[in-house]
Amino acid sequence: MADCAFHILLPLLAMFVVTYSEKTSEKMKYMIFLLPLALMPDLDHFFFMHRMLLHNIFIPLIFIIASIIITDPRVKFAARVGFVYVASHIILDMFSGGVALLYPLSHNIFFIQAELLFDKGFSWVLDCGMTPYSIEWALAKGSVITSTSSAAILIVGLSAICILYRARYSKQQEKW
Ligand SMILES: [Zn+2]
Repeated sequence: MADCAFHILLPLLAMFVVTYSEKTSEKMKYMIFLLPLALMPDLDHFFFMHRMLLHNIFIPLIFIIASIIITDPRVKFAARVGFVYVASHIILDMFSGGVALLYPLSHNIFFIQAELLFDKGFSWVLDCGMTPYSIEWALAKGSVITSTSSAAILIVGLSAICILYRARYSKQQEKW
């Protein structure tokens, strides 16, 4: 199960890098305010449909279609941020067990396994495929902090982004 520290930090960092050259702090506020969307797919465990109901390709598609249709620049940007946050969650989960990517068209779990091993030499594993959706997935928990080190990564990462944000944007004017 992908740790919630990675679900939060990776897309936030990606958005920060993409918008870094833009002279606006309001976009950064949207990126922070919308962070719960990075964990939103895991709400499906409350419906006993974990890795299925909100972990499919159609959820990020809703955000990208909204970003195309909507003309207001703020709402358009929010929809784009939502797309990045939700899509990154689903991709990360594909690498940690898998997701029902085509639900409701298919109940199969799509997974990618990629490992690099440095133990008495060098070896790697790269595999992908499908498995049937099981009761274990239906009853699995959603986002969790799986270790003390990932809690530390989350705290240090968010602190670093906040410091970068203040250094970059605090004295600049709002502009879209
Ligand atoms: Zn998830």
